[in-house]
Amino acid sequence: MRAVLWGAALFLCLPFVAFAQEKKEGGASLGEIIAQKSASPRLKEISLYPSQDAVRVVIVPSEKVEFKYDLLVGEGKDRIYVDLKGGTTAEGFVMPKVERGGFLKGIRLGNRPDGIRIVFDIGAVEKYNVLVLDDPWRVVIDYIGGPPPDETIPTEPQRPILVPKKTPSAPAVAPEKKTAAKEPKKPPRPFVLVLDPGHGGKDPGALRKGIAEKDVVLEFAQTIRNRAVARHPDITVLLTRENDRFVPLEERAVIANRHDGDLFISLHTNAYSDPAIGGVEVYHLDNRSDDYTEKLTRVENQITNDNSLLNTILVDMTMSFYTDDSRKFADAFGGRLEKTLPRFGVRLRGWRRGALFFVLVGARMPSLLVEVGYLSNPKERDLMRKKAYQEALADALLDAIAEVRRTHTLAKERP
Ligand SMILES: [Zn+2]
Repeated sequence: MRAVLWGAALFLCLPFVAFAQEKKEGGASLGEIIAQKSASPRLKEISLYPSQDAVRVVIVPSEKVEFKYDLLVGEGKDRIYVDLKGGTTAEGFVMPKVERGGFLKGIRLGNRPDGIRIVFDIGAVEKYNVLVLDDPWRVVIDYIGGPPPDETIPTEPQRPILVPKKTPSAPAVAPEKKTAAKEPKKPPRPFVLVLDPGHGGKDPGALRKGIAEKDVVLEFAQTIRNRAVARHPDITVLLTRENDRFVPLEERAVIANRHDGDLFISLHTNAYSDPAIGGVEVYHLDNRSDDYTEKLTRVENQITNDNSLLNTILVDMTMSFYTDDSRKFADAFGGRLEKTLPRFGVRLRGWRRGALFFVLVGARMPSLLVEVGYLSNPKERDLMRKKAYQEALADALLDAIAEVRRTHTLAKERP
């Protein structure tokens, strides 16, 4: 059953992948997602996470709705429709403010015979991601811009067309970068590591014997930051949450992007029915999945039933631009964990696995998800709260980052 569902999910990806190429010839594309029928859904909220060259839009109806979206390609600017079937705006709905000068230019609402239409006026869309999240049911869409036609930069043939663009007003930046070898070296900037302690607030994550995942992973994040200050001052560690507060899944990558991170790591603890099972796992973002990683993905994505998986859709590998680098970090970290963990009698279960974690989707930097141990394993439950274990993992991670920076040229580098 699972294989069938994933097959369906992958099938849905196909027209989506083709989209980026089609668009070059000025073609439009249509995506359509069917959710369960519903009586009278209402549009409750639209949240925006805008930036200069991208926007994440979160559409929250009162309940699960059938919806579709469509892109109209214009000259240097595009228009997106999102149609929600049935209903109208909910009482108290407030149109979000659109700030001037961003990638998102405006939003309009219109009535349709069969529902409501939301129109987004935006810059030229290069890629997008569509996710559906539960609790509350909502649609999350990333629209990501690319360089305008006259700024199109010839890239290496195997590179995806998405080029991280930091300074839209300075078209000459990227070509110069190609010949930067002969220019005097700028002092290296600090490496920005954004840590995401999973869960928080009303969402405790896994719970065993009164120990909550949300607390354990926050401690880990703080320990990693402290170790960076003490041992790797050229690595700046920032957290998506500093305390026990709830952060929606879709906000976490946004926070990482706002910090313009070089690496984004979501921290979690695992749990299983058999207390003998234990170990550490390191994942990178991938839309293919084997049985095991799929189960884990479902837990970390808070997917509760099979139907919703089918609707969790169309994740473009926009971030495939960073996949190679994500693997480099995972490899270096895994290599060090292999040496560190036996000291504590903990197993390294794997570190070359890809999985589709929504929390990582949309992060415009390499990204990993790390399960620091099993809360259901009594030994690891104790260990994970011990400074010595936290610091050993922190050092393995920070040393791995330093090693990757020494030995590789990363795709995400500043001009
Ligand atoms: Zn978790």
